[in-house]
Amino acid sequence: MVVVFQSLFVLAGLVILILLAFRMKGDKAIVRMPENYKELLEDYVQFYRELDEADKRLFEKRIEKFLIDVKVTGVNAEVEDIDRLLIAAGATIPVFSFSDWQYINLQEVLLYPGSFNEDFDQGGFDRYIAGMVGTGAMQHKMILTKWQLRQDFINNNNAHNTAIHEFVHLVDKMDGTMDGVPEIILERKYVQQWKNIMDSTIWQMKTYGSDINMYGATSHIEFFAVISEYFFVKGESPGGAYNVATNL
Ligand SMILES: [Zn+2]
Repeated sequence: MVVVFQSLFVLAGLVILILLAFRMKGDKAIVRMPENYKELLEDYVQFYRELDEADKRLFEKRIEKFLIDVKVTGVNAEVEDIDRLLIAAGATIPVFSFSDWQYINLQEVLLYPGSFNEDFDQGGFDRYIAGMVGTGAMQHKMILTKWQLRQDFINNNNAHNTAIHEFVHLVDKMDGTMDGVPEIILERKYVQQWKNIMDSTIWQMKTYGSDINMYGATSHIEFFAVISEYFFVKGESPGGAYNVATNL
């Protein structure tokens, strides 16, 4: 009989623990959106500005959901409301047309103050990295820099946006390989066609030059990220390449 009571106590304890765990999970889900977040989006995010009212509401919900799912942590940098919003905007813009999108391969975005080097040093003269998708020990993390994040959204005229670029790498990576072929959004039968388009566009860029950032001609991986930046920042698709990837 004593054993039965002990078992019941243990069981009750477990139930309470499980309930607490759910409760804690519930608490974590409360994200305080800044009071003026709609104004901030209107002021800094052109993509949002150009949406109709219904889509603006959807965009806001997606931003809120992203910030519930993904932690933003400053590393020697203070994370301000505007930074959180711009990161969430950079995450949402490339996948806005996929209504049930979730970055299952991302848990945390680390925000550095400025550029860093391959050893993640934030000082010195060899710092040329403004954003990266983590691998190895940094798996499920992304690094962005506060200075570049803000600059890109403020100067929305050079087809360059590091946050969008890094989130497109994550989209690419979701099928298990980062190779410029986003099989999660591209039907299998179009994979070869997309590879051909990447090769021919890269050849054209190298041969004739282009207003697409030449960094995109260095690999399929960078091509997909750079062409996506171009598409989402300028609102047009060079040679229809991005449309071919996502809308076929
Ligand atoms: Zn890249």
